Amino acid sequence: MGKVIIIGAGGVATVAAHKVAQNPDVFTEVMIASRRREKCVRLAEALEQAYAGKSMPKFSTAKVDADNVDELVELFNEFRPDIVMNLALPYQDLTIMEACLQAGVNYLDTANYEPRDEAHFEYSWQWAFMDRFREAGLTAILGCGFDPGVSGIYTAYAAKHHFDEIQYLDIVDCNAGNHHKAFATNFNPEINIREITQKGLYYENGKWTETEPLEIHKPLTYPNIGPRESYLLHHEELESLVKNYPTIRRARFWMTFGQQYLTYLDCIQNLGMSRIDEIEYEAPLADGSGKTARVKIVPLQFLKAVLPNPQDLGENYDGETSIGCRIRGLKDGREHTYYVYNNCSHEAAYKETGMQGVSYTTGVPAMIGAMMFLKGLWKRPGVWNVEDFDPDPFMEQLNSQGLPWHEVFDGDLEL
Ligand code: NDP
Repeated sequence: MGKVIIIGAGGVATVAAHKVAQNPDVFTEVMIASRRREKCVRLAEALEQAYAGKSMPKFSTAKVDADNVDELVELFNEFRPDIVMNLALPYQDLTIMEACLQAGVNYLDTANYEPRDEAHFEYSWQWAFMDRFREAGLTAILGCGFDPGVSGIYTAYAAKHHFDEIQYLDIVDCNAGNHHKAFATNFNPEINIREITQKGLYYENGKWTETEPLEIHKPLTYPNIGPRESYLLHHEELESLVKNYPTIRRARFWMTFGQQYLTYLDCIQNLGMSRIDEIEYEAPLADGSGKTARVKIVPLQFLKAVLPNPQDLGENYDGETSIGCRIRGLKDGREHTYYVYNNCSHEAAYKETGMQGVSYTTGVPAMIGAMMFLKGLWKRPGVWNVEDFDPDPFMEQLNSQGLPWHEVFDGDLEL
């Protein structure tokens, strides 16, 4: 049915590639392209092995620098994909969107654009592409991972089936897994630490309120897990959800962290290792002469190089994630609550794809988003967040592609 390019060969891309391989009725030809071709080749070989003897799409690989629009356009023109799945880093969103426009290709990503030199994310940069995508007749699907992604689809599903008016929305994200490392992040360390160390933000009564980083927290009870301390963070989907559901009076995002993780994070910050500005460093020359030279490094990028690679965490990861939406609002004039969530086992994710649960919960929705587009169910010229589309076919696929969801009606939301 369709040709796709997956950009990136990290944890999320690996899961998405497995899921694409499992759906050969939808995906016929797939190119994996990243800045290091050898990683793409290794992934394609692993897929050939995992699905040997079964019907699967035709995979190919390429090297591409996704910061370079011309290189991307050349690759897109050569391969002619129907849609590009951007599973590289948020820094590349704008260059890939620009290249999609120049080559006439549709677009999907899982995280909104962030400038490299500022730990700040908002949709304005990507929403600015709206008219150009619309005029070109191309669809761009933004934020199609779990959160953002399934969190927006859950909200759209609640609005469509269970509420006349959503008034309070709390997105709750718990990772109760244990990777048995002293400190590691579950996805790209640079992006993850930037997200957590910035100020918190929530929406209430028409305005945004800023908090100090991790200032607001409380224990929340997660299904099959129990109570876990949960911290209020700014998260990108809140921006589009309060715009698309103007009846929302308050919208917040909560994420759990263990005490050990927070202690390490505190040390990292106090040592200056979370800095994203350039510093000068006296480094040995690569020519083996023993001489040194002043070079510029970004401490957080250096830290990423010495931390465990999130792709290697899967093997000993046990426990599960639990992510959902807790919603309060009106139906037929009466107040109701609704909690919709998924629990995902790290071990099961590893067994199926070789990756841990956080990569799994992101890569599966990315594949389903591309599937929705290729089936013509989510095809709409312009730049859209996931809640702009019909949630029903996506929700159906979540159940059959490894991320089943559960509902609690009129329970205690604790919030
Ligand atoms: P990784 O760091 O594991 O993978 C990123 C991949 O992109 C790597 O293969 C990397 O190459 C490649 N890459 C980086 N820069 C370039 C470039 N300039 N050109 C080409 N390729 C490049 O990250 P994850 O897989 O953990 O995360 C992928 C995305 O998913 C991120 O944007 C992240 O923010 C998002 N995400 C979204 C979530 C959600 O729920 N919505 C949750 C978790 C993650 P190399 O291998 O050489 O480093």
